[in-house]
Amino acid sequence: MSRVLIAEDEPRIAAFVEKGLRANGFVTAVVGDGLSALDRARSGEFDLVVLDIGLPVLDGFAVLRALRAERCTVPVIVLTARDSVQDTVAGLEGGADDYMPKPFRFEELLARVRLRLAGARESEGEVTVLTVGGLSLDLRTRRASVDGRTVDLSAREFALTETFLRHPGQVLAREQLLSHVWGYDFDPGSNVVDVYVRYLRKKLGAGRIETVRGMGYRLPAA
Ligand code: CA
Repeated sequence: MSRVLIAEDEPRIAAFVEKGLRANGFVTAVVGDGLSALDRARSGEFDLVVLDIGLPVLDGFAVLRALRAERCTVPVIVLTARDSVQDTVAGLEGGADDYMPKPFRFEELLARVRLRLAGARESEGEVTVLTVGGLSLDLRTRRASVDGRTVDLSAREFALTETFLRHPGQVLAREQLLSHVWGYDFDPGSNVVDVYVRYLRKKLGAGRIETVRGMGYRLPAA
């Protein structure tokens, strides 16, 4: 299980990120100022840090510089206002880390978190390609393919496909898929899952995802 430190002083954003990450199986901790962020990040207890630039006491740039000066290599994803992306990229000095312009949709952040974690883990032999019956997802490059043919998926479609691939042969209820893929902001009565399953059938093949009447959907285990 991956541990993520969230350094964000706006409670609303911190809660939004924390809730989403927890719903996706991450262990999280939140700090609201730069000094605490530095303390916790250098402790080695986290696999990744989500770091707001505009933090009190010490800003995100200072935190990042201090960490790197100490040769702490924990992956850092910087959160920044959309209108200061240019300054942020310059401030990251060569772009060794990733950044996320605010406001962002949760799955955009999640994709980056996973990408960074996958990169950090490559040497540990973590699975980065999921394959079931000719359908395969590369979690690192975010590429999907069906029988060797590359398929273009949106972030949401990718996340939904990943959920199916992680549970081959299992029936997944709509509510399960909603909370897994849409996380924080879903309406339980929404038909968004059905809509996206339709998209996936168009892109991946009509028979790829089975409807299990009254229960949900299933990706056959091939
Ligand atoms: Ca802030």
